[in-house]
Amino acid sequence: MRSFLAGALCLSVLASAAPTLSVRDVPQTEFLNVTYSSSSGSLHNSSLPNVLILATGGTIAGSSTSSEDDTHYQAGVIGVAALVAAVPDLLNISNIDGVQFANKNSGDITSADVLQLSKLINYALCRSHSNYTGAVVTHGTDTLEETAFTLDITLSCSKPIVIVGAMRPATATSADGPGNLLEAVTVAVDPRAKGRGALIVLNDRIGQAWYTIKRNANTLETFGAPEQGFVGGLLSYTPFWYYPATRPTFKQTFKIAAINTLPAVEIIYAHESYNPKLIKDAISDGAQGIVIAGTGAGDESLAAEPYIAAAVAQGVPVVISTKINVGCVVPSAGSDTIAAGFLNPVKSRIQLQYALANNYSMNATRASFEQVLGSMIGYGASG
Ligand code: ASP
Repeated sequence: MRSFLAGALCLSVLASAAPTLSVRDVPQTEFLNVTYSSSSGSLHNSSLPNVLILATGGTIAGSSTSSEDDTHYQAGVIGVAALVAAVPDLLNISNIDGVQFANKNSGDITSADVLQLSKLINYALCRSHSNYTGAVVTHGTDTLEETAFTLDITLSCSKPIVIVGAMRPATATSADGPGNLLEAVTVAVDPRAKGRGALIVLNDRIGQAWYTIKRNANTLETFGAPEQGFVGGLLSYTPFWYYPATRPTFKQTFKIAAINTLPAVEIIYAHESYNPKLIKDAISDGAQGIVIAGTGAGDESLAAEPYIAAAVAQGVPVVISTKINVGCVVPSAGSDTIAAGFLNPVKSRIQLQYALANNYSMNATRASFEQVLGSMIGYGASG
């Protein structure tokens, strides 16, 4: 039986903790601008697993003067200690260390932030003597799928990273953040979460980060993978799993230890009469890769073809994804562009950044997107 007393004692330590206590295993000096609060110390419950919560902001940390305001509140206001203190049950299932990694609207999270976040999580979770069972990242939902995808393709061990957010601010009458956070930590300490990479948990559903996208701008039921579905869910805050741990077929992983900066990759959104000179302009402005959010299954306008050909001739990879966001751009042999397969534009952008940052050749970059699907369907990948 879980002890509420244990949770209450840990919580009082957390509430009184100075903001810069050290987090187990994570030397603060290596991660500047990161502040910590911690439930570690004499009241640490050695019978419970340890979870590292990294708070980045978003609606889950959002606040409004009105409990009916679900639209005009300010995101990224409430700190990690308050997020944890609002859910005392967390400390009945886990010791919690909290990192205030950022406190932003997720539209302001940068690729550099997420690289740093991944390095921090890999450091905390994946060394042989790590005490952490898993990590939970609280995040704004607008770019949550991007951060979750990045963490998924850069995680170097089998421990779970659970990314969680909320669609209603903490001040709302029916705020979803506290329940979602409890579900996220519950999933992070579930032994069956291991080996599944990064998971997205909101609204009683567990999705694999590689496939999961945000599907609705407003409703609680927003994250999902329309074709591939969920891997599990929660009933009364208890996880269940539809399948044993499995790896998304098309997932590629990337090393990050030697990466300090990520190259700019821009997404160009195709539509009737779009200006393909934007491709050239993006490259002139420093883009080292281009993703086109193409129409349908990645069709290109005739007007774009010379700009694409010029980019590729310059050695700039051009990945064609689909603005439909769901479905596949199929690789075809002999194409100068790279087919994104099942990666939507924002995820394609990230994969291209990490391929470029690892100095992949054009052929290796192509293979990272096309090879698995190409070999399955019998044509396509020329890498
Ligand atoms: N604008 C918010 C964000 O992404 C939305 C949310 O978290 O739901 O930070």
